Amino acid sequence: GAARLLGPNEVRDLAERFGVSPTKKLGQNFVIDPNTVRKIVRLAGVEAGDRVIEIGPGLGSLTLGLTEAGADVTAIEIDRRLAVELLNTARQMQPEVFAGAAAPRLRVIHTDALELSAEMLGAAPAPPEVLVANLPYNVSVPILMHLLELVPGLRRGLVMVQAEVGYRIAAGPGSKEYGAPSAKAAWYGEWRIAGTVSRRIFWPVPGVDSVLVGYERFAEPRGDEGERGRTFELVNAAFAQRRKMLRQALQPVLGPLDVAVETIEAAGVAPTARAEQLRIDEFLAIARVHLGRSG
Ligand code: SAM
Repeated sequence: GAARLLGPNEVRDLAERFGVSPTKKLGQNFVIDPNTVRKIVRLAGVEAGDRVIEIGPGLGSLTLGLTEAGADVTAIEIDRRLAVELLNTARQMQPEVFAGAAAPRLRVIHTDALELSAEMLGAAPAPPEVLVANLPYNVSVPILMHLLELVPGLRRGLVMVQAEVGYRIAAGPGSKEYGAPSAKAAWYGEWRIAGTVSRRIFWPVPGVDSVLVGYERFAEPRGDEGERGRTFELVNAAFAQRRKMLRQALQPVLGPLDVAVETIEAAGVAPTARAEQLRIDEFLAIARVHLGRSG
């Protein structure tokens, strides 16, 4: 029968037809391997009826894997031409997505994912609950953070990112990859490396390796908006001077040495510790003490 997913020929044909020459600036590397697409959908645990948000659908390689599995997909694409053509591609390859009395199982929103708002998502029957995406590499962490903030019900996800970034996101305290992105990601949930991906499944072939990173969101948020804000300020300050002890590195947020030492101690943390040793709940403990004193 006719192809339901995009292989190398379909990807090249569509790109040519749409006049798309992939740009590095937008991280445009398109998946040309249906097996990889099905593997991602399987590892993401996507089932029929799941409400999925996909960032950067591109030509539709992953999107069609999600709709094939019966998901309800909201796709966010910055490139106008790709956003416009995606519905046509899906209509051609999987007409059932648009059939029946129910609303179509694919919606496309043309915007920069970093500017996605609740209003733009508002038209959907219910907010998405699963994130599945092959993220544009230069902005993958900011996009993740923005989505986790914007959609509290986004309870699990699987994203493909540059390997280096993926290992950083999933890292825990004490490892050399542990940094501000790891600590911030850990605010929201548990992260794991779910697999690696060969460069050869992309067109064009990227200059870096990729990994799949999965997360499971905590049932309850760790703290409120004010606490999160202050905690992230501390994380940024601590990792901006990751070689320094906290009593030094946190002064831009906490104040002069004596006040900083006292605040850190009151939180039950050693002022001589360094950023790379601290779990997110310890950053939060310091933030709480500081908020309690500074209002
Ligand atoms: N999902 C497709 C696939 O797997 O073949 C394409 C993935 S490609 C790595 C990244 C996609 O994200 C491109 O389609 C690009 O145009 C889009 N993109 C880049 N920056 C974006 C942004 N800030 N917001 C939304 N989409 C973006």
